[in-house]
Amino acid sequence: MICQREAGDGLLVNLGGIVPLSTVDWRGRAAMVVFLRGCPLRCPHCHNYALQTGESNIEFHALASRIVCRIKGLQTPAIAFRASTRQISLEDASVRAASRPFVDAFVLSGGEPLLQPEASLRLLGLAKSLSLATGLETSGFYPGRLRALLKSDVVDRVFLDLKTELNEPAYQMATDITGVADRVRESLEICYQSGVAIDARCTIFPELPSKDQIREIARTLEGLSRLYPDSHLESLTLQQGHPREGEPWFEPVAFEEMQEMQEIAQAAGEGIAVQVGAPAVIKWAGQIAKSI
Ligand code: SF4
Repeated sequence: MICQREAGDGLLVNLGGIVPLSTVDWRGRAAMVVFLRGCPLRCPHCHNYALQTGESNIEFHALASRIVCRIKGLQTPAIAFRASTRQISLEDASVRAASRPFVDAFVLSGGEPLLQPEASLRLLGLAKSLSLATGLETSGFYPGRLRALLKSDVVDRVFLDLKTELNEPAYQMATDITGVADRVRESLEICYQSGVAIDARCTIFPELPSKDQIREIARTLEGLSRLYPDSHLESLTLQQGHPREGEPWFEPVAFEEMQEMQEIAQAAGEGIAVQVGAPAVIKWAGQIAKSI
């Protein structure tokens, strides 16, 4: 079990790490990024391979205290896992909340954050209470949990990771798991229905997705945009994929080829803003505490 409740309100969060300030995860914003550990998918080139599995639990209150201190630029308490007694009081929280934050956005990432739905809800709620814009980075593997989270009104933007066209066996090749495409399609539709801002992202590797698959992705997005005129797709970003740490080297897809894909997507998905960008690369220190 990845995330559980202990006696009382001791919600444990399986934490991957915190990046206190990022300007690449949410274009145009200075964001704190919190990574939750664990993912049901097994993408061969996983950008956060170290976070796919494992356990490094921390009590929610200790993590919340750490986050608030970081955001407010206050001295941070030493982080402790499982047995932490350093909890933030409501009085403390309101004093800290009254000070000016250094970041204006909060992004919850992973792993797959929705593997821990309650932790996701609480962390995004905490960020909202600090008047931060909130973003969720997800693979779309848990449509039901995504729907519930969006209904809770704690997510301003969904960064949806589209690995390839939303069909099998393409998605199985991209994630090494069967039956994922339908889940992602449902998640995408939920985002369109809800009207939340959507940033669709697709990382391009030499073997996948192909130009035809990029065309299909753009057609899917364009079709949904027509079906849900009140939806809010911001853009489709094509990111250059790189070998992950420990993986045999391969030559990333050339920028010129990615520009071709951009043109293909723009032609297929009329009206969709298609961008080419590089993904954020995070070097995990191995020990979770070092990354916070
Ligand atoms: S969905 Fe993301 S975190 Fe999960 S295996 Fe794929 S790349 Fe890694």
